Amino acid sequence: MKEISKHYNPLEVEPKCLDFWEKEGIYQFSPRAKGRIFSVDTPPPTVSGKMHIGHAYSYTHEDFIARYRRMKGENIFFPFGTDDNGLPTERLVEKLKNVRANRMKRQDFIDLCNKTLKIITPDFIADWKKVGMSCDFSKTYSTIDDNCRRASQKFFLDLYKKRKVYRQEAPVVWCPHCQTAIAQAELEDKTEETFFNDIIFKLSNGKNLVISTTRPELLSSCVAIFVHPEDKRYKKLVGKKAQVPLFGNWVKILADKRVDKQKGSGAVMCCTFGDKTDVEWFKEYQLPLVMSLDKTGIMTEKAPKYKGLSAKAARAKIIEDLKEKKLLVSQKKITHTLNIHERCKTEVEILNSEQWYIRILDQKKELIELGRRIKWHPEFMRARYENWIKNLHWDWCISRQRFFGVPFPVWYCAKCGEVKLAEEKDLPVDPLSAKPKGKCQKCQSSKFIPEKDVMDTWATSSLTPQLALQMFYKEEESKKMIPLNLRPQAHDIISTWLFYTVVRSKYHFGKIPWKEVMISGHVLDEKGRKMSKSLGNVVTPQTILEKYGADALRFWAAGRSLGQNINYSEEEIRAGKKFLTKLWNVMRFSSLNIPKSRNGKFTGLRLMTIVNKGNKCNTKKNAADESILANIKSLKDLYPTDRWILAELQDLIATATKNFEKYDYSSAKLAIEKFFWIKLADNYIEIVKNRLYNESSQNKKGQASAQFTLYSVLFTLLRLLAPFIPFATEEIYQTFFRTKKCAKSVHLCGWPRIDERLSNREEIETGKILLEIIAALRKFKAKKGLSMKAELEKVEIFCSREVKKRIKEMEEDLRAVGNAKAIKFSESKRFLVKIS
Ligand SMILES: [Zn+2]
Ligand SMILES: [Zn+2]
Repeated sequence: MKEISKHYNPLEVEPKCLDFWEKEGIYQFSPRAKGRIFSVDTPPPTVSGKMHIGHAYSYTHEDFIARYRRMKGENIFFPFGTDDNGLPTERLVEKLKNVRANRMKRQDFIDLCNKTLKIITPDFIADWKKVGMSCDFSKTYSTIDDNCRRASQKFFLDLYKKRKVYRQEAPVVWCPHCQTAIAQAELEDKTEETFFNDIIFKLSNGKNLVISTTRPELLSSCVAIFVHPEDKRYKKLVGKKAQVPLFGNWVKILADKRVDKQKGSGAVMCCTFGDKTDVEWFKEYQLPLVMSLDKTGIMTEKAPKYKGLSAKAARAKIIEDLKEKKLLVSQKKITHTLNIHERCKTEVEILNSEQWYIRILDQKKELIELGRRIKWHPEFMRARYENWIKNLHWDWCISRQRFFGVPFPVWYCAKCGEVKLAEEKDLPVDPLSAKPKGKCQKCQSSKFIPEKDVMDTWATSSLTPQLALQMFYKEEESKKMIPLNLRPQAHDIISTWLFYTVVRSKYHFGKIPWKEVMISGHVLDEKGRKMSKSLGNVVTPQTILEKYGADALRFWAAGRSLGQNINYSEEEIRAGKKFLTKLWNVMRFSSLNIPKSRNGKFTGLRLMTIVNKGNKCNTKKNAADESILANIKSLKDLYPTDRWILAELQDLIATATKNFEKYDYSSAKLAIEKFFWIKLADNYIEIVKNRLYNESSQNKKGQASAQFTLYSVLFTLLRLLAPFIPFATEEIYQTFFRTKKCAKSVHLCGWPRIDERLSNREEIETGKILLEIIAALRKFKAKKGLSMKAELEKVEIFCSREVKKRIKEMEEDLRAVGNAKAIKFSESKRFLVKIS
């Protein structure tokens, strides 16, 4: 028999468990395994070098649910993949390898990305294993691997055939730094101080018209002036013309309700394209196109004097020139909000260019409707989805003028421009190296130009249900799996990943992608601020894992319910570690006081068949079991205090199960934690110590009852805790519980079920009074400076006749725990404990 370690050391135990789970394939998925399938659309993390604390927080939430469902007997489809194409990977490789993509040969850069990913991905995935994710890691996908490229291109062809994707030259949101088009969902707001410049335009009658603008560098792109139709100051001017200062051209003055009368002078210029409203005016009023900024944010020949300057430099120079010509009336400091690219924080521009778009603007109503068919946890997160859709102004631009991404399976006819698609059986293709088959269907030419753009990373990751399913299912089977059961994710990607997946599922399958979604909040620092490098308040999960282990981290992460942000708290993580230590100590103590079989394990497994039908284990009778059973022939032989804790335990099973069903793992955890500390450790174990120790006495019945009860409570508690602290519970199970014929792992044991025979409200109420009396005894001793073991002469309990009847049954235990020589019961309407 192995020596049982005195102290629980997570840093030793956790790696051991990881090896064991992997070797035994505990979390491997098989479509044909027993049980109803519960399928999870696991978020593929973006390969960024290392897992961050927000990941650790939200991924453990979905793992709680998956582990609970697995124990319930469901067949858990919990796949894992990484999202590793597109801009994030390009940026990472540029940083790691100190290169710039656009200064390298395209293919060399792509090769470098692939090579780098191969090296860094296994370590990256290891962090997800280390926090205890119970995904099937035996097969993983990468959104850039052959299978995913093939799937992504195949579904693009499907969109094309269904006319849900189109290519068009139009104004598009552009990042001058990344030099690519981007989608509305990739924008972030940034507030900034800038100047509102009042600039003089000349009217034909020689009078002045003052225009307010934050972007004077766009003067050369000015194609019209807009005023509000009800603005009395300008009513007469509508339809007339004004001259653009410094550049001399004349533009029309137009009236439109979108102008804010209160802002600046109330007259604004429309440029190509200062912002979203400019784009709308450009389209509606069919204004000319004058691009004075190029794709890298540099002034073009449309502003000859300023050509070659950056927008910022041009702004300064133009202000200087306006001042010199006395055309600048005033400059007012204001704070305004502008759009930046979320990946590089560069202020975006709007440029005219040819891009691929997936239709979404004409589907707003249907997409909102689909969102309502999904069950949201928490429900209020659905509003974010709907608000996002209501505020969409652009179709989804999916083409990126970048390099490391899934190529479009498309060529264009060199003669007539007609699109030529790749054939499905040839996928995945790179049109830059492959040639299309056949001739142009329109003009019979056989000369083609390959599409150079790649798809946005979301264009592939919006297909995660299919990318994951195809690892385990053939195409026809995998279609039947839609909708999956659950999409877990954090709230910051509702407008991207969640929304886009609904769009794709609608187009490809005409269905919602999942029945339910669960949305996690974010992690803030100890003071509730966002973590950022510049504030120096970033906490990494790796340091927590190295210091406290994964269970303590998970214990902290279970502390908030879905949708709620959490402040990082080292104190709460330490509290988790303390819990593990206490749990281990309770198990160790019990192992010394519950009969053991020859291999040192508890023997109660056979007993459990009496108490808990949910327990799948069954072992042969053994001698130690028999000695208890000889005294516990039926549940009626249990002591009242034992019946009380067992009734509390049934209550706990009910609470934990009910909350897990509602995805409210944090309420489940809180109830289990309270039960453990207050009911079990502080009270029940103290109460029954005397009966447990009492080996020589005649009270074999009392001892057996306590042993039987303690075993039931511990084995149930262990399983209730398994989703939260998978490592410690596994170690405890293997050390104290598992015998030859048991389930291999605690995570394959059944979720505890309520035994109706043990549920009893009355026992619970009696238990409350019992604890009150014990608390009074302890308080008395503490006040008198006595040891808790000190003997009490006389305890008198005043209570109703009914309470008396029930409490009197517990007298033996009560006397033992309080070390009271005598307990007297007196009937009274008021409950009172008198001690002397
Ligand atoms: Zn950018
Ligand atoms: Zn052609």
